[in-house]
Amino acid sequence: MDTKYIFITGGVVSSLGKGIISASIGKLLQARGYKITIQKFDPYINIDPGTLNPYEHGECYVTADGMETDLDLGHYERFTGIETTRNNSVTTGRIYLSVIERERRGDYLGKTIQVVPHITDEIKRRMLREGAGEAYDFVITEVGGTIGDIESAPFMEAIRQLRYQLGRNAVCVHLTYVPYLKAAGELKTKPTQHSVKELQSMGIQPDILVLRTEQHLDDNMRMKVASFCNVDLECVVQSEDLPSIYEVPVNMQRQGLDAAILRKIGIPVGETPAMKPWHTFLDKQRNATREVHVGLVGKYDLQDAYKSIRESLNLAGIYNDVKLKIHFINSEEVTKENVADKLKGMQGVVICPGFGSRGIEGKIIAAEYTRTNDIPTFGICLGMQMMVIEFARNVLCYKDANSVEMDADTKHNVIDIMEEQKSITQMGGTMRLGAYDCELVEGSRTWEAYDEEKLIRERHRHRYEFNNEYQKEYEAAGMKCVGINPDAQLVEIVEIPEKRWYIGTQFHPEYSSTVLHPHPLFMSFVKTCSE
Ligand code: GLN
Repeated sequence: MDTKYIFITGGVVSSLGKGIISASIGKLLQARGYKITIQKFDPYINIDPGTLNPYEHGECYVTADGMETDLDLGHYERFTGIETTRNNSVTTGRIYLSVIERERRGDYLGKTIQVVPHITDEIKRRMLREGAGEAYDFVITEVGGTIGDIESAPFMEAIRQLRYQLGRNAVCVHLTYVPYLKAAGELKTKPTQHSVKELQSMGIQPDILVLRTEQHLDDNMRMKVASFCNVDLECVVQSEDLPSIYEVPVNMQRQGLDAAILRKIGIPVGETPAMKPWHTFLDKQRNATREVHVGLVGKYDLQDAYKSIRESLNLAGIYNDVKLKIHFINSEEVTKENVADKLKGMQGVVICPGFGSRGIEGKIIAAEYTRTNDIPTFGICLGMQMMVIEFARNVLCYKDANSVEMDADTKHNVIDIMEEQKSITQMGGTMRLGAYDCELVEGSRTWEAYDEEKLIRERHRHRYEFNNEYQKEYEAAGMKCVGINPDAQLVEIVEIPEKRWYIGTQFHPEYSSTVLHPHPLFMSFVKTCSE
């Protein structure tokens, strides 16, 4: 079978959940036995989201091959279980960079370089995944932003051209919004009509419309949209608000979204796959009622900033048959005086990743409080580093212990800059990124959590590391280094075995937790919190 291409665009407003719809389509096609991949094209100029403040676009997700990407790739991986790569995340900046580099090399042989065809050709090349290696039955391409944005015009032009070139092997799905006007008591389809018109004005006729709505749309409403927008009635599906994003794939399947895609392409639809494991998961989710309260100590008061951590906790909760209640605790507001109050009622605490010194003292105070009160604690990346600093200050009695990230001249640099990071001056894409091996110490709590696995591989995103010169002192005082990178001897995991659950990881386990395979460390952490 030739590779088929599905393009997903969005209209009316942003934040409609295009990533969730894309991931759901991926999941449904996968359930039918197709090999798929999902990629995200973002119209902004940054080369990658690595240098973006989480307040701008939420968390930065990291692929196993070390690309800093948009958080939608996290949805793709959690829904489908596939591992994405650096080819799955493309920005306008990256496109221009390749074209400009080629121009500097003289590859264009004196031609004038223009948006059309040079930029659009580069977009097309990447949309088709030319030279990216692997072959797929379906390549799903989500374009960020909203139709009509100045920045997204070249992407739309590329889709228009590809559509013509690929014929039936391409399908366009457009996601829009149908607002409910309370005062009028009515759902309004006009914004959708306008959005489709705008798409048509760029030469793209959508095949399928997904309407986001807070109220159920009846058949008349769908019929109206279908006839105004030149779309078949069966190709107008609605995406109502649901209790969980993980209900979306089955809701889409019920409405025949995957079947509509296959029909458009001309592939026999066949039986609807049962998706047993997914339904088992959803049943567990619906049945979990006992609440477990976990505090997230971090500095970004924004849901999306710790997206993968939140989802990993939720997933682990569901598999532990509990309903996880996550409470954000702003580390900038945590003091010695109020920490007991701030963490009151928490059955576990996650100390979040981050960069820079804002809010770190609050993280250190929280780590001390949970350690001395034996509250299960999970430190991730900067969170682990804060656990290490807290231990140095309060147990090893190095009052001035710090990370050289926060204090370049600290005498007790228990967290130091990695050797290979010392000469780096460029910010973007230069950290220790992606998956690295880690050997677990037999008999440790972490080793038990990983089902007695000896060698694991986890994703990283950091410049600083545990300073091995202090390893002996830490271990003698009760904090053990139980995960070591075999090639560089870097300490990847610390734990205090005598505590109920006090583990810090230099890596980010949250990036590899999926719906069908929740991460073992989150599973073990939530289990202990719920006991
Ligand atoms: N700022 C820390 C470092 O670079 C931790 C990074 C993180 O939490 N991802 O090492």
